[in-house]
Amino acid sequence: MTFDRASALERLATEHFDVLVVGGGITGAGVALDAASRGLRTALAERDDFGSGTSSRSSKLVHGGLRYLSQGDYRLVAQALTERQRLLTNAPHLVRPLPFLVPSYGSRAGLRAVSSALWLYDLTGGFRIGRLHRRLSPADALTRAPALRADALAGAHLYLDAHGDDARLTLAVVRTAVLDHGAVAANHTRVACIRRGGATLEADGRTMEVDAAVVVSAAGVWADELATAGSPAVRARSIRPAKGVHVTVPAELVPIDVALVLKAPVDGRSVFVVPWPGTGRVYVGTTDTDYDGPLDAPTCTAAEVDYLLEAVNASLTTQLKPSDVVGAWAGLRPLVAGGRSGRRSTDLSRRHRVTRSPEGLVTVTGGKLTTYRAMAEDTVDEVQAALGQRRTRARTASLPLRGATSAEAPVAAGPASDVAATRHLVARYGSEARVVVAIVAADPALGEPLVPSLPYLRAEALYAVRYEMARTLDDVLARRTRALILARDASAAAAPAVADLLAAELGWSEAESAAQVDRYRAAADVERLAAASAS
Ligand SMILES: Cc1cc2nc3c(=O)[nH]c(=O)nc-3n(C[C@H](O)[C@H](O)[C@H](O)COP(=O)(O)OP(=O)(O)OC[C@H]3O[C@@H](n4cnc5c(N)ncnc54)[C@H](O)[C@@H]3O)c2cc1C
Repeated sequence: MTFDRASALERLATEHFDVLVVGGGITGAGVALDAASRGLRTALAERDDFGSGTSSRSSKLVHGGLRYLSQGDYRLVAQALTERQRLLTNAPHLVRPLPFLVPSYGSRAGLRAVSSALWLYDLTGGFRIGRLHRRLSPADALTRAPALRADALAGAHLYLDAHGDDARLTLAVVRTAVLDHGAVAANHTRVACIRRGGATLEADGRTMEVDAAVVVSAAGVWADELATAGSPAVRARSIRPAKGVHVTVPAELVPIDVALVLKAPVDGRSVFVVPWPGTGRVYVGTTDTDYDGPLDAPTCTAAEVDYLLEAVNASLTTQLKPSDVVGAWAGLRPLVAGGRSGRRSTDLSRRHRVTRSPEGLVTVTGGKLTTYRAMAEDTVDEVQAALGQRRTRARTASLPLRGATSAEAPVAAGPASDVAATRHLVARYGSEARVVVAIVAADPALGEPLVPSLPYLRAEALYAVRYEMARTLDDVLARRTRALILARDASAAAAPAVADLLAAELGWSEAESAAQVDRYRAAADVERLAAASAS
């Protein structure tokens, strides 16, 4: 098996599949892996890039969600905490424990309230990570997070949750489905129309019919836009998009080695300040607002930047300015619509829903990054019912994702041999880091940085094309590496050099390289301008 787009397109056009999954976000990726590992002939089509929708724009927390406890959603939290544990085991290179510190200011009543919430979190399943939460004195809290404001600090709590790069997790799930379980997956391949027994796909300017007994819609916030043959204009409102934004700042401005949970002064919502290990960056997020704008490429506005920076500045001695922001991203939660109208998006459940239409289209909506595996299990149960098959057990609960086998730790070579570079590669590729190391060993110049100030190597761009189906400059800079959100302007400046590197691999002409650079810079400009403009 190879993770190769040309052969995937060929197979999509010629083979019969039990199931075709529409959408290569974490939900569709999870469905493809579950279906393929149960032995179903499985295909997946993603119209843009794997993870390019919401699944590269989350808060990147693999967690139960403390706040859902206060909404009484114990079942969701318990399920998410079970899934967190599975990910820590099945993808230890991609999902890692991260300590969170919750400071309490003012009276001790605040401390007691946090303590009760964390006991409940531990009891609901948080304990499985191996350590219960604990209370810190103000002095201990300041040792862990010296940037905290000391005045009126009553104390803090420390608990463990987990963190992972959402885009790379999504890619790892797709690659596991393809390389280890025989699924067929192609990015930059749009499903134009779904019909009974398959769908019409568009890729590289050509159209093809895919023959699949069951089609699964895992199109996130775009689910209501999918056209089905016979009813192209159906616009059921099954999704309520809710927007959330994050901003990135250099780590030296917020010296922390734990994530912080702060209160936004404006509305009391929790805002996370998260150190992104190995990148030299800290990010702050998120907001949660109803959204009715265009679904493609939402942006972060100046008002949203101000909201997040105010939350940081109210609790830390650091005073962040909009000019300190080096990257930003906005995403849309595909929340399940329904219930009382007029409810705020913050109050809508993060649970998922699986439905089957009379025509046999299985649709999965809602959910969280953390719970993707459980969502996939429910969806494939429904697929098997649609196929008229006996339900078989999902195998994904204990299925390692690509790169998870620590026995194959890479041997560093050439300029990548220093400890930091090796650690960086292992955190991104696990045991597959050995392939990147071999690329550097063959040409030490490829051990140089891809974008100044970031840890990515030039060899990683080549690896992205050869082994991870990257097809565009944006695929490489926005998702295979996270250069766009970690250093927007530096990545735009480096774009021509990166395009030169990719051109030889992808057979780009000079004109195509220039067009790729223009498109990438234009998208970076849109983000920069949005963050500087009034909302
Ligand atoms: C701001 C924010 C913060 C969040 N933080 C967290 C968090 O910390 N932890 C957590 O667990 N969850 C979090 N979430 C939730 C989580 O990110 C989402 O639930 C999840 O990423 C949704 O994945 P998805 O695959 O359903 O959607 P998407 O990732 O959007 O995938 C849908 C895909 O379908 C594709 N598609 C659409 N139409 C077609 C078509 N016609 N043909 C082919 N492909 C098509 C799209 O291109 C897209 O890639 C957060 C969400 C947001 C917005």
